[in-house]
Amino acid sequence: MQHIYLDHAATTPLDPRVREVMEPYLGSMFANASSVHWHGRQTKAALEAARATVAQAIGAHPSEVFFTSGGTEADNLAVLGTAAARQGRVITAASEHHAVLDACLYLRSRGASVHVLPVNGEGTVDPAIVERELQHGAACISVMHANNEVGTVQPVREIADLAAAYGAIVHTDAVQSVGKIPVSVDDLGVHLLSLSAHKFYGPKGIGVLYIRRGVEVEPLVHGGGQERGKRPGTENVAMAVGCAEALRLAVAEREESMARLVLLRDRLEQALTGTFPAAVVNGSRTNRLPQLLSVSFDAARAPMEGEMLVTNLDLEGISVSSGSACTSGSVQPSHVLLAMGRDQATAKATVRFSFGSASTAEDVDTVLSVMQRVIGRMVRPR
Ligand code: PLP
Repeated sequence: MQHIYLDHAATTPLDPRVREVMEPYLGSMFANASSVHWHGRQTKAALEAARATVAQAIGAHPSEVFFTSGGTEADNLAVLGTAAARQGRVITAASEHHAVLDACLYLRSRGASVHVLPVNGEGTVDPAIVERELQHGAACISVMHANNEVGTVQPVREIADLAAAYGAIVHTDAVQSVGKIPVSVDDLGVHLLSLSAHKFYGPKGIGVLYIRRGVEVEPLVHGGGQERGKRPGTENVAMAVGCAEALRLAVAEREESMARLVLLRDRLEQALTGTFPAAVVNGSRTNRLPQLLSVSFDAARAPMEGEMLVTNLDLEGISVSSGSACTSGSVQPSHVLLAMGRDQATAKATVRFSFGSASTAEDVDTVLSVMQRVIGRMVRPR
């Protein structure tokens, strides 16, 4: 059977060009980057070159780039590290990735005051509501750049401008936006920004937290002084080099690759909405990621066991993500779709298609015919 991978928002394959630049650091260039001898100085130079490349890609200074084990750690360091450095209220949004939301909920469980902003039907945070909340005081506000489930891009700049007026630190989770839309820490006006290499054809297990100069963030782990004490532990030079090269390529090739992927996204969107009257597109129609399409099937018009949708597509060779997650043995609809006002059954009947470098127009045509078969089988007669 032909297998089609349309789950690039979950992860992407390692770009062979990235693997090539990583290879020396998995072999002969093995030294500890903190060692002062000649061998160590070679890997240290590679690490610092990687830091400079990352900094350039997001418009930062190299001293503001801190390597972490990925997006989850970068988000946790941003939220928990800021909360530890600055006592005060934390504001976040209901559609955040669990890496931010659960870090905030952890803070709440430890007695901190945490406010979760609502989102509208498109998954967008309303800056007017942000301002109202800022008036009650905030040490930190964390609002993601682009949503991983529906692709909605948040008005981060507007939120950052408001936060500046109230002296709050602004963090944005840019894990899904880097390499897809322009990301500049100054244009966004943020103090902290997270990214993760495996979302843009880099290796898994490496990410970055950007920390604007002068912003205090308490480390989560303690040990040696690596990453200027913010993230101690022997540096993973191969991964950092891979992260930097993947980011460099993603930024350099962004416009061309996204112009291609947006056509595939639109082709599938038109095909699905034209074929299935019950299909509703999730997310903002104007501010969303170019390569991601989230479609729900309205339970009132097309009742089905929505949680089986992705499994049935998988059985037909299509790898995509669902609008639900298996939590403690039961299928729970996505917190993002519920926050956007979708009912439980419709939220469960959701498919996220995310295109990538190997995706083709033929994939879109195959997906449409498979969807016709699968949805035709699954919808219960009313
Ligand atoms: N934030 C967002 C928006 C994501 O989509 C993801 C990954 O799914 C993460 C954070 C976590 O990143 P990582 O997988 O590198 O821990």
